[in-house]
Amino acid sequence: MADRARGNARDIPNHPASIPGNTRVGATAEVGESGFPDLKELRAVLKEVDTAPVERALTGPAGGVGRKPYPRGPIIRAYLSLPFLSIADISALRRELMNNPAFRAACGFTTSVPSRPTFSRVFGQLDKMPERMDRRHEQAVRKLREHRSDLGKEVAVDSTMVKTNSNPRRKPISDVEASWGKQHDVRESKGWRWVYGYKAHTATCANYDTPLAVIVTSGSESDMNYLVPLVEKLQLRPEVVIADRGYDSANNNEWLHRRGIAPVIHKKRPPKGYHTREWGRGRTYYSTKGTPLCECKHERPYLGTDPETGERVYGPVTDCERGGKFEGLSLCEVEVRVIPESDIRLFGGAVRRDSPEFKMKYNKRWSAERVFSRWKDHNVLESHSFRGLSSVRLLLQLYAIADVAAKIAEVKATGTLPVAA
Ligand SMILES: [Zn+2]
Repeated sequence: MADRARGNARDIPNHPASIPGNTRVGATAEVGESGFPDLKELRAVLKEVDTAPVERALTGPAGGVGRKPYPRGPIIRAYLSLPFLSIADISALRRELMNNPAFRAACGFTTSVPSRPTFSRVFGQLDKMPERMDRRHEQAVRKLREHRSDLGKEVAVDSTMVKTNSNPRRKPISDVEASWGKQHDVRESKGWRWVYGYKAHTATCANYDTPLAVIVTSGSESDMNYLVPLVEKLQLRPEVVIADRGYDSANNNEWLHRRGIAPVIHKKRPPKGYHTREWGRGRTYYSTKGTPLCECKHERPYLGTDPETGERVYGPVTDCERGGKFEGLSLCEVEVRVIPESDIRLFGGAVRRDSPEFKMKYNKRWSAERVFSRWKDHNVLESHSFRGLSSVRLLLQLYAIADVAAKIAEVKATGTLPVAA
């Protein structure tokens, strides 16, 4: 690459060879407050994405004989740099490339920066090959797994809204594929707000805060229906899948359990504060966490799991106000057994719902939130210049690929990859 760049030197004003690779030129650049990223770091990240299969799939311009094809690889790498620049806008990206020869060189441009229509055309071509972009994401995940074999063992599933760059109140609506969805937001008194746009359903590695699979839909789609497709998209079967109560359904819990995956999904709180199950002439009560309660709604102590049957044994509650009421024997004072398979959603699968382990694993759901907050910091969720499902999907794919590539570069450079808190 360096030799080729030198060969074309006279065509290029401010030739990159004259500028040390690691020079910070952020002071003059139109980028976010964080300034321009470390170019050495950016190079290391871009190196980890194999763009060749996508480059080959792109078709050149319908130009005449002798017309030079536009540089596909550099344009794709420029798009992959968007999160590092915290700009999600093609014009701003081009401006940055033109003002910043070192950045241009990092992307691999050896001639002048292609026109805005060329950039848009490449984006338009890429957004028509979502499967091919997914393969690039998967390839990066595989590469990271070579360094961290436990990547994706514990997976957090969550979603975030991605605003579309279109005013929904203006008629006619310019982005008809977008729709209103709720965005969780602690700053709002009700805890959420409406956002017009798309939803990025995401599976992240709960230990390394890395996006492993992303599905983008219109904003009004329910989270519930995307847990299974996300897990199916993963290349390896995780041991645990963690999700909040927006994903709480018998189907989601049982589907995971049948595949040998422990569901750690928050349960919707029952109206009375406990669950009731009818059986024959009796009825039993369970806490929100699936712990059997005694007749007076005290939690029974967990004694252990029968290794033969898998039944979970809970002990009596002594000193109850109802103790000794029924013919010398209170139902509070008997031992009860729970068959998890009878209600995975209530009792949990391999990880018991009322165990400390469940609570510990459930806390790892913040991993998805941390990935989203990174995307938000990089201006993709709230402000970008794209509209339409395929464009927003490509934008999220680029961000996810860059995220994984950054982790690969980090583990290669430092030999470590911090485990999420
Ligand atoms: Zn009792």
